[in-house]
Amino acid sequence: MSDRIVVVGGGLAAGTTVVELRDRGFDGEITVVADEAHPPYERPPLSKSVLLGEKEADSAILKDVGWYADHAVDLRTATHVESLDLAGRRILAAGESIPYDRLLLATGARPRRLALADDSGASVGYLRTMDDSVDLRRRFGEGFRLGVIGGGWIGLEAAAAARMSGAEVTVLESLDLPLLRVLGPEVAGVMAELHREHGIDLRTGAEVTGISRSGDEVHVRLADGSTMVVDHLLVGVGVQPNTELADAAGLVVENGIRTDRHLRTSHEDVFAAGDVANADHPVLGTSLRVEHWDTAIQHGKVAAANLMGGQADADALPYFFTDQYDFGMEYVGHATPGAYDRVVLRGDVEGRVFTAWWLDGPRVVAGMQANDWDAIDVVRRLVGSTVDPDRLADEGTPLTDV
Ligand code: NAP
Repeated sequence: MSDRIVVVGGGLAAGTTVVELRDRGFDGEITVVADEAHPPYERPPLSKSVLLGEKEADSAILKDVGWYADHAVDLRTATHVESLDLAGRRILAAGESIPYDRLLLATGARPRRLALADDSGASVGYLRTMDDSVDLRRRFGEGFRLGVIGGGWIGLEAAAAARMSGAEVTVLESLDLPLLRVLGPEVAGVMAELHREHGIDLRTGAEVTGISRSGDEVHVRLADGSTMVVDHLLVGVGVQPNTELADAAGLVVENGIRTDRHLRTSHEDVFAAGDVANADHPVLGTSLRVEHWDTAIQHGKVAAANLMGGQADADALPYFFTDQYDFGMEYVGHATPGAYDRVVLRGDVEGRVFTAWWLDGPRVVAGMQANDWDAIDVVRRLVGSTVDPDRLADEGTPLTDV
């Protein structure tokens, strides 16, 4: 097959798609147009090993620019796409009209901004890009005071890295526990304990009412009358999908760009992948927009197959992992509040070596291993299947026999 594929966006979904296209023997033209100056890179290290100073930021780059040149990929970084012309099969970027036969939108997501912080004139940052990570890392050290708004993945991973460098860290989370919506109270409680044990001042149920600058300090006022004084404030209150181009072009947009199970949008020649795609999930029976690293990779593979005329399904179960201090975990599945009626914990929860299972009746909707790395195989096997919940809860029954 020899025709023209254009990819808008330069994140991991875009990068994986391009590599897969060439691996699969696609010999047509490929053009990638992306806002950022760096070639596609992985984000997990940016809030983990790069922030810890264990790895250089460059190590997160998927393929260096030479790879794109060697594989006849026209990679246009630091280039903004202005509009899409779906009827005319062209995109407009930096004043140039670029034709395509099939288009992939992998425009990703951007941090939700907190106006109160942005307008304060104080030292405030977000953590999404390679440059953000390098900027945050260079501030770390003994005596540095970091304030974090948002006890989500970004907030907690950054808090752990800062603490490991000797910084004093305060985390403000609006709910009663960090990661409450993702993990539920049983496991979110473990995360809260982990951070407090490592000396994080974790304040939950926190409502920020004011942020101001005083000299080099950031002063944060809370609704309960307390204050937080820090040297720098990191805001990690979630992301929003970059749907503006798709929306303006008339594609169906609903919590991201809507796609079918093959990542095809409401326009036949246009696909969407990664953080921006709200895709029908054939296994879970619902549409889902997942903002995790692994989904960007899985979508990239499916998008490449289907851009070449295939009918591959985006059917991988959501997967994510984290590493904070000496605690690591992997999670498979999708358990939103209300989607499960029982949580089973097995192992040494206090010692933080355990597995957790979210059940909807007999169906395992999600599973997780915490510091129990060999258990990931059984987690992957059981998620999506039906089990006898009492046998699963019975520590005397080996997981392999559930
Ligand atoms: P996130 O995981 O959605 O967490 C944001 C947190 O901030 C939520 O707990 C949220 O509570 C809280 N929050 C929102 N507004 C707040 C406010 N005004 N004051 C205090 N707390 C507030 O988002 P994120 O941490 O920014 O991460 C961005 C994306 O990257 C997410 O999709 C995340 O999954 C992904 N990521 C994943 C990993 C990993 O898998 N290890 C690592 C880093 C990033 P509510 O629930 O009430 O809104």
